[in-house]
Amino acid sequence: MKKIQMVDLQGQYKLIKDQINNSFDEIMQSSAFINGPEVQNFQKELEEYLGVKHVIPCANGTDALQIAMMGLGLQPGDEVITVDFTFAATVEVIALLQLTPVLVDVEPDTFNVDPEAIKKAITPKTKAIVPVHLFGQTANMDAIMEIAKAHNLYVIEDTAQAIGADFHSKEGKTYKAGTIGDVGSTSFFPSKNLGCYGDGGAIFTNNDELAHTIRGIVNHGMYERYHHDVVGVNSRLDSLQAAVLRAKLPNLDMYNEARKDASLKYDKAFAGQEHIIVPFRSGDSDTHVFHQYTLKITNGKRDALVKHLNENNIPCGVYYPIPLHSQKAYKDSRYNEADFPVTNQLVKDVISLPMHTELEDDQIDLITKTIIDFVND
Ligand SMILES: *Cc1c(COP(=O)(O)O)cnc(C)c1O
Repeated sequence: MKKIQMVDLQGQYKLIKDQINNSFDEIMQSSAFINGPEVQNFQKELEEYLGVKHVIPCANGTDALQIAMMGLGLQPGDEVITVDFTFAATVEVIALLQLTPVLVDVEPDTFNVDPEAIKKAITPKTKAIVPVHLFGQTANMDAIMEIAKAHNLYVIEDTAQAIGADFHSKEGKTYKAGTIGDVGSTSFFPSKNLGCYGDGGAIFTNNDELAHTIRGIVNHGMYERYHHDVVGVNSRLDSLQAAVLRAKLPNLDMYNEARKDASLKYDKAFAGQEHIIVPFRSGDSDTHVFHQYTLKITNGKRDALVKHLNENNIPCGVYYPIPLHSQKAYKDSRYNEADFPVTNQLVKDVISLPMHTELEDDQIDLITKTIIDFVND
């Protein structure tokens, strides 16, 4: 059996190696390292794939979130509602822009933002909601868009973990995650579902004016060469990364399918287990692209299981072990433990298993058997 890895990027590389190496050669010959044709072409191809009017590539997923918020003109003191249970980047950029992060609880089954918790957190200062499509599953965008409309709030979708996931609206329309709100952001970090070989990110929007504003912000606030109309940043996707992404994008649906297949094999092996809860699917099979396959261990053995798997050379991860509202950087006297019952429990129960496009049946058998034996012991 091949060594089990949490993330395996080699298998994908082998299949697109020639294509990538040829593109790299061309880029070296042309020296178009920044904003070359590869970047422009990738932008167009991603717009087409997502069915969105504008994709603005940038340097990473954290920048993408920050630039989206800058583009919307959010001002210091504006309150931005996001989840207590996500990667810190989401809340970090809110704080960095001197906006006020307002963390709210998530749903126990989907791990995504609880629309009722959003409603409770709205004040006259609230300007935006940042839903995170956590672990690859789209948040309840029908409810979120409804709340946003009623209270005149912007919606910024953090799609770093869910590129390619579908959302089926209650009107019967299908959207790609990240293209429903005012603006979406994603990351092309190597381990994401669409990953490059370094850092990369992108912003999506259907709003022409916002797209124009953002294109200037990523480039030092320039709309005309050496005319700086707004304070911007330097955030670019480089041509080598764009070439990797162009080779991978046509395979993204296949990659996500392979992840879903692995998730179903895991589900099947864990069926009927009393203390193991497999990931909930909020919609049909396309609404979850399994950036992570995350179990809940309900008999208090999660930490011991992590140790046991480590000792048996089976990688696993705990995403996330500490609620953001308890992190030193994001503590706030406005928070009350009683407002976060779900996150406070999830941080004790969740464990994410190896998930990538190259998982093999014998590996899944060993992983699931080891977990079942230990949890029931
Ligand atoms: C990975 C990730 C980010 C940040 O992306 P980077 O490219 O690493 O900056 C933001 N939000 C979420 C939910 C993520 O998983």
